[in-house]
Amino acid sequence: MTVYNSSSLIDSPATITYIGHATTLIEMDGLRILTDPVLRGRVWHLRRKKVPINPLWRKNIDAVLISHLHWDHFDLPSLRLMEADNCIIAPLGAARMLRRHNFRCVQELAIGQSLSIGSLTITATYANHNGARHKFSTPTDALGYLIRGSRVVYFAGDTDLFPEMNSLADDLDAALLPVWGWGPTLGQGHLTPYRAALSLQMLKPKLAIPIHWGTLHPVGFGHLKPRFLYDPPQVFARYAAHLAPDVSVQVVAPGEATYFDRAVFQKSHIVRRQTADGRTVDRCKKR
Ligand SMILES: [Zn+2]
Repeated sequence: MTVYNSSSLIDSPATITYIGHATTLIEMDGLRILTDPVLRGRVWHLRRKKVPINPLWRKNIDAVLISHLHWDHFDLPSLRLMEADNCIIAPLGAARMLRRHNFRCVQELAIGQSLSIGSLTITATYANHNGARHKFSTPTDALGYLIRGSRVVYFAGDTDLFPEMNSLADDLDAALLPVWGWGPTLGQGHLTPYRAALSLQMLKPKLAIPIHWGTLHPVGFGHLKPRFLYDPPQVFARYAAHLAPDVSVQVVAPGEATYFDRAVFQKSHIVRRQTADGRTVDRCKKR
């Protein structure tokens, strides 16, 4: 792990990789945080669109954040691919199941509780979503997470709008917001592209990155190239331009990464995007 002094923390870029669905890699202040890892080609009846899974995404991880126990967010086979000493942070009620599957470093958080990972503070936040693994299991919370370091990043997990979004943080740099799901329709407790754009009026981040789209689809849908795999982030960006014009929106394709530094937030949209094959694409737009 690299240790930065305080001035280099501010100047060092933070990187967000949209691995796909709710799996993101947040690299900030020398630490690597992975969210809701789904790192294989199939989960139950869902297949991953043909985007290669880079094994480096799961190396040297400082903490894994689990938002809730639904199958497309809490995937035990993917967790088993991780290094054995990875620390898993999860909602109340998840630890027993994780320990039963031999995961030893598990920390449960209730809504509002925080812990430190190096120089980062991770806070569990409310999510408006039924977090029970299946309809006969004990109810567990669904969480979002605030990750606070030299920047402040909000990972929303699965959620619909909720009033407390107004007071979640008054200094959000980036919000990773779900804008769809894995099928042609969305169930309750999710943000549509329109409602995700409405959430920007409450969250007021400097940057919004749509997630939870374009990755998983029911078996048999892939070759049809259904619109639900492609349209949601673009529709979100169009609504956001009207409803929250001060927020920069960056659509990052599954498997791609974007990085930002302080100057970006003050003067321009995202500077650079790194593609899955390592190419760098500059996308600097002055505000
Ligand atoms: Zn869910």
